[in-house]
Amino acid sequence: MTQRVAVIGECMLELQGQAFGPMTQSYGGDTLNTAVYLRRCGRAGGIEVAYATAVGDDSLSQGLLDRWTQQGLETRLVRRIAGRHPGLYMIQVDERGERSFHYWRDTAAAKAYFEVSQTPLEQFADDYDALYLSGITLAILPPEGRERLLDLMARMRSRATVVFDNNYRPPLWPDRQQARDVFQRAFSLATVALVTADDHQALLGLESPEAALAHAKDLPTPEVVIKRGAAPTLVRSPEHPDRWLTAPTETVARVVDTTAAGDSFAGGYLARRLAGASAVEAATYGNRVAARVIQHHGAVIPAEAMQDLMEG
Ligand code: ADP
Repeated sequence: MTQRVAVIGECMLELQGQAFGPMTQSYGGDTLNTAVYLRRCGRAGGIEVAYATAVGDDSLSQGLLDRWTQQGLETRLVRRIAGRHPGLYMIQVDERGERSFHYWRDTAAAKAYFEVSQTPLEQFADDYDALYLSGITLAILPPEGRERLLDLMARMRSRATVVFDNNYRPPLWPDRQQARDVFQRAFSLATVALVTADDHQALLGLESPEAALAHAKDLPTPEVVIKRGAAPTLVRSPEHPDRWLTAPTETVARVVDTTAAGDSFAGGYLARRLAGASAVEAATYGNRVAARVIQHHGAVIPAEAMQDLMEG
């Protein structure tokens, strides 16, 4: 049975290379990564994924749309705003190979997604079985757009799966208290919370990982998945509301690049969960997907490198 998932967020243009030297151009963003991995892992099981965002009417924006389509994503929920551009980040690589990130995203089109009386996502929400957003999605939206998205979560949660992934980037928030308040509302409105323990600790400003874990275990979301890097994943779901079960991670001898570890986990987890697997089965598979991704460079690894995981 086909399941349709809407993923909302921001995908930016990426430039990587030496300052004032040669650079290669790509694109990326946490929610886009998740959308791509969800499509790859869910395709065999009939999962369709639409990416919701805003881009401009320039050729670079068209280039992004073309690439999302090539990745198998639907673009009917994308708004194109005349005169705006996608956000941009640059990964500057120094002589020692160390990477530093610079962002130009304040005027990005994605921030203006809700600056219209009805977005395509709001218009077509009833066509979707699931909605996925992250803490970065909420961070980049201005307050009015953020409220509209929280309203949409409330509207969809009675009949659809509403997933909130707690990616927390402090520079995107005016202060931590505001982020905490917004995250708390998102946790209350979601039906599934994907929680990276480190981000939760940073959000709460807690000294110890144990305190952050205890807090995460008290979250109001019916289904909570707590990711802890190489340590086993913890899950509590409506099938076992009073018990925390563990899902194993893979042993990875050489971690190459942890970019998109959590995003690829999310894609794998949701692909299996929406297809009817238990939370532990879905998390075990998500961990296999993430383990593969961290053994390659870049956020979105070549599909050929994970073909065996995509065959259902
Ligand atoms: P995030 O990328 O969101 O910060 P984590 O660091 O918790 O999240 O990692 C997400 C997933 O990536 C984990 O659940 C696990 O599957 C995988 N992972 C991350 N680091 C390792 C590691 N060193 N060994 C094996 N798996 C890992």
